[in-house]
Amino acid sequence: MSIKRYTVTSALPYANGPLHIGHIAGAYLPADIYVRYLKGKGHDVAFVCGSDEHGAAITLRAKKDGVPPQEIVDKYHNINKKAFSDFGIDFSIYHRTSDKLHHETAQDFFKTLEEKNVFTKKTAEQFYDEENNQFLADRYISGECPKCNADGAYGDQCEKCGSALSPEELINPTSTLSGKTPIKKETSHWYLPMQKHEEWLKPWIENGTINGKNHHDPKTWRSQVIGQCKSWIDGGLQARAMTRDLDWGVKVPVKDAYGKVLYVWLDAPIGYISATKQWAADNNKNWEDYWKNEETELVHFIGKDNIVFHCIIFPIILKAHEGYILPTNVPANEFLNLEGKKLSTSRNWAIWLHEYLEDFKEQEDALRYALCATAPESKDTDFTWADFQARNNNELVAIFGNFINRVVVLTNKYWEGVVPKCNTLEAYDEQVLEKLKAFPDKISASIEKYRFREALGELMNLARLGNKYLADTEPWKLKKTDEKRTETIMNISMQISASLAVLSEPFMPFSSEKLKGLLNLDNVNWNDAGGIIINDNHKINPATHLFNKIEDEQIEQQLEKLKQQ
Ligand SMILES: [Zn+2]
Repeated sequence: MSIKRYTVTSALPYANGPLHIGHIAGAYLPADIYVRYLKGKGHDVAFVCGSDEHGAAITLRAKKDGVPPQEIVDKYHNINKKAFSDFGIDFSIYHRTSDKLHHETAQDFFKTLEEKNVFTKKTAEQFYDEENNQFLADRYISGECPKCNADGAYGDQCEKCGSALSPEELINPTSTLSGKTPIKKETSHWYLPMQKHEEWLKPWIENGTINGKNHHDPKTWRSQVIGQCKSWIDGGLQARAMTRDLDWGVKVPVKDAYGKVLYVWLDAPIGYISATKQWAADNNKNWEDYWKNEETELVHFIGKDNIVFHCIIFPIILKAHEGYILPTNVPANEFLNLEGKKLSTSRNWAIWLHEYLEDFKEQEDALRYALCATAPESKDTDFTWADFQARNNNELVAIFGNFINRVVVLTNKYWEGVVPKCNTLEAYDEQVLEKLKAFPDKISASIEKYRFREALGELMNLARLGNKYLADTEPWKLKKTDEKRTETIMNISMQISASLAVLSEPFMPFSSEKLKGLLNLDNVNWNDAGGIIINDNHKINPATHLFNKIEDEQIEQQLEKLKQQ
């Protein structure tokens, strides 16, 4: 197997509020599964993320709370960094865009693009709030959505239908600062004329080629990602302002730009690069290997509302700058709903990650499992507490946990925890070993296609195989009459358990660790799975439960909590 280099990014979350399960299911858990898998296979991976600390969403929140923006971003950067880490999202670095290194990196980027005449400077009328004497960023304008007619759509996006908008499209726009109707006033900005890049973007998106050369296989991209990009391109790309009149953000590093900052969607993706620079500096690596080497695979994990930024705007910027690689995939997820309704931070309809971790101590994997099993990979899906409980109790506890428990308990009971020998194999044993051998490749193939639900399903099928093997052979009965046969069955069951410990790591790292502890395994990796991992006479540890049941009362409490929101 050849070792490859990967740069994997997860969308930078805004540091204006805590993380909820929709964020996790969209851009963080799938990325973490992918990265843990790649590392398990021995690949070289930089997994970068960090807080997006700029943009009007932050200043709006600061105004609402009556505190400086820095106070808001410090608070949520720390809360979110800790929640990610406690949930086992194993970033190489969790950086932040208020960091000096990021400001320098983003400004250098802008200067290079300016020198290469990538931008056009244009004066245009923009919404202005007379009461507050300031130009209104897209987020400061709200009104009726022209697409779905919902009230309260923002100038950049409708949260109801997910459409990307521009402020001019809103029906009856009002300033969210004063509540008044804004006037139009002239201001000048740097624009990115996206239409100029259409010629290479179209074949890159549709065929995966650049200048006639293969870049990636478009068949591996999700159809909704290609579909959204095509509809943007077919709808006619336009010039988009890359600067804003705002006092919070990365200052525009050229003359005549007083009071202007970089558009947050120019600055945030560059945050992936500055995060990589910081990580490389801390770990004695060369960051350019991860961004400028054609052999490196760049993969962006995002939610569907960020497709245009990662598949059109950021690639344009990277290519126009020159010297940078482009993403080989952008596996964007659709949205996760909660109990039939759209998750919403502003409407407080959410399950907050840091609260889940408080309420369900040492049950991180129960949520990782449920979110992966219902991941919105090809369409919007729904998270319900009842489904979460059923998945934990009927699948993790009853299938996976039950199999492991039987193997560990019987081995301790009959052989004092010493793994028995594998004697003569019967045809059924050979069949089971043959099936076991096929699982790592099946799970790998699904993960490499970004089909994490399917991969998790295969992992559970391995646990099912183990359960069926024990149910069919009944070693607890055979023990009295056929010691040799019992030894063989338990040896094979132990090999299945060991493979489960390895193959579950990307999905459920806490349980994988616990299971490795139970089986007294170390130094095993993905490439060992499917084979004979545990030798005769290997000593395992006493049984403890791998997963714990979730009781009805716990679920009722959570439903009650949601009602109060
Ligand atoms: Zn809408």
